[in-house]
Amino acid sequence: VICCHELIDFLADYDEGTLSPAQRRAFEEHLVICPPCVRYIEEYREAVRLSRECLCDDCPPPLPEEVNQRLVAAMKAARGK
Ligand SMILES: [Zn+2]
Repeated sequence: VICCHELIDFLADYDEGTLSPAQRRAFEEHLVICPPCVRYIEEYREAVRLSRECLCDDCPPPLPEEVNQRLVAAMKAARGK
């Protein structure tokens, strides 16, 4: 079983489909037992979606500080600290 830190490391590769089958299984097994990581991943995917939505120069930064803070808070919660 992987820990939360490893799960975060795997996340980008998981979404790109570049993990080995064993890594994918470990990733998915961790999500079953770790709700904080599920929430973190939802926040991460939402952030990625938002950052892809707007590519023009005139708009404000796609990732406001408030969203960053929530991501950091979710990671800390996932580590249980
Ligand atoms: Zn976790």
